[in-house]
Amino acid sequence: MNSTRSKTIRKLELAAFRNEKVFPGCDDPEVKESFPRAVAQVRQELGKTYPLFIGGKEVFTDDTIDSINPAEPDEVIGRVCQSGTKEAEEALTAAEKAFQTWRDTSPSERAEYLVRAAAIVRKRIYEFSSWQVLEEGKQWAQAYNDLCEGIDFLEYYAREMLRLGEPQDMGSYSGEINQYFYQPKGVAVVISPWNFPFAISCGMCSAAIVSGNCVVFKPSNQSPVVGHQLVEIFREVSLPEGVFNYTPGRGSVIGDFLVDSPKTSIIAFTGSMEVGLRIIERAGRTPQGQSSVKKVICEMGGKNATIIDDDIDIDKAVSGVIYSAFGYQGQKCSACSRVIVVDAIYDKFVEHLLASVRKLKIGPAEEPGNYMGAVIDESAQKKILQYIELSRKEGNILYCSEVPSKGFYVPLTIVEGIRPENRLAQEEVFGPVLAVMRARNFEQALEWANSTRFALTGAVFSLNREHLERCRRQFRVGNLYFNRNCVGAMVQIQPFGGFKMSGVGTKAGGPDYLLHFMDPRSVTEN
Ligand code: NAP
Repeated sequence: MNSTRSKTIRKLELAAFRNEKVFPGCDDPEVKESFPRAVAQVRQELGKTYPLFIGGKEVFTDDTIDSINPAEPDEVIGRVCQSGTKEAEEALTAAEKAFQTWRDTSPSERAEYLVRAAAIVRKRIYEFSSWQVLEEGKQWAQAYNDLCEGIDFLEYYAREMLRLGEPQDMGSYSGEINQYFYQPKGVAVVISPWNFPFAISCGMCSAAIVSGNCVVFKPSNQSPVVGHQLVEIFREVSLPEGVFNYTPGRGSVIGDFLVDSPKTSIIAFTGSMEVGLRIIERAGRTPQGQSSVKKVICEMGGKNATIIDDDIDIDKAVSGVIYSAFGYQGQKCSACSRVIVVDAIYDKFVEHLLASVRKLKIGPAEEPGNYMGAVIDESAQKKILQYIELSRKEGNILYCSEVPSKGFYVPLTIVEGIRPENRLAQEEVFGPVLAVMRARNFEQALEWANSTRFALTGAVFSLNREHLERCRRQFRVGNLYFNRNCVGAMVQIQPFGGFKMSGVGTKAGGPDYLLHFMDPRSVTEN
């Protein structure tokens, strides 16, 4: 059967997908040498001005913002030009124009750009990670693994497009030939958060691009310098002009404009529930001149629970909960913010938990001895401190750590006595605040775990097979983990994403993801 592609070029052959090797540890000899050197080199480059990138050209604006180091607010990471609606419109126009050619570029050729991009990230992994250490306050391992996930998205979506790019023979009825294939939708607006500043942005942009769409990318204004790395990478692989456009800007200025535009066909968003729901609502309207129904791919927040059963290895459970709750200061959508402990083991678990967190050091993320660093900015710091105040009223604070006085730090906080109806048990805090809840028995623990409107991640520590099987069916979250932490989902093997108010269930890094960026077609030939 002939391909429907207008241009047929040599077919890219790739070995089976394998996940990139994650961070080898701070004591690894190469890490010990390379990381401090890369951080020092990056420090030499701080304070540069970053232009927008539209239709293959750099665009400088008078309006700029300073992106700063959350652990050292006087340190300016970069000065970033800001897109207004004029520049956003230019980017949408450039993307729309480029789409006319990009849509007919073969899947093989598109996939090859991604594989070449992955090779660049691999080569520059210490340098790129170091920018995250300074701009987002990420510990070495957290930053490095974000880059690994970005590489995985590039490699995996390249292979997925090769799979989906093949027209399928659907069989024949009375001599007709039936063919099924996919076409891209058009202009994709990609709006990303700051907490996985490379991986999530790279995943959404590369999925859109490889499936034949053209992108207008708005990074978070808390991570625009890391966001600019995608410009460097896509320029280096010579992605055609207008296929990828970079328009950092204030969400309050260009967010609605990009979403509302009749030129926009897809909005790929990851961020908070509040902004996500707003986007879904606005994208449902049909402005003058819009010719297709907008598709919204929307990944939002969580209020994730870990259940501790009465028969577990306490040390293993404690270390899993600590990593899930306080890794990267609890600023992960997947972070554990409620640990629900069965009464019979409650006192022992809490005693071990407190003994372990007392040993954790807090300070700048660039020092590998610090377990926790500063939160992303002053407004996050204020919001989390308000939740800590609330936790004093709703429960009983068991631990509230000391923090450095300079920088946007908040204490590592553990609160007990929280009930399912409390705000601390229902609202996403997005910081290092863990609610410990005492459940009568396993049944009640499972009921409480499911008692929020979010459904993103969850974990269960139990050796009871019947309990685990019940959770497999009834602990209703997008990503559930047994006897381990609930963060760090890996591309392909743990496709990631939630449902209910956590998202629309699109699962990044999974076999269905690219389908959201395309429309299927069927052609019958008699
Ligand atoms: P956010 O405040 O919702 O911002 C996300 C993005 O939306 C930013 O680029 C922001 O721009 C932009 N934005 C703001 N207002 C907008 C508007 N009216 N229209 C369109 N875009 C607008 O979230 P965040 O603080 O960056 O990230 C943390 C949140 O993301 C948490 O809730 C976390 O759970 C969630 N998250 C979810 C996942 C997942 O896979 N489910 C993964 C990571 C994070 P500005 O920077 O200019 O405000």
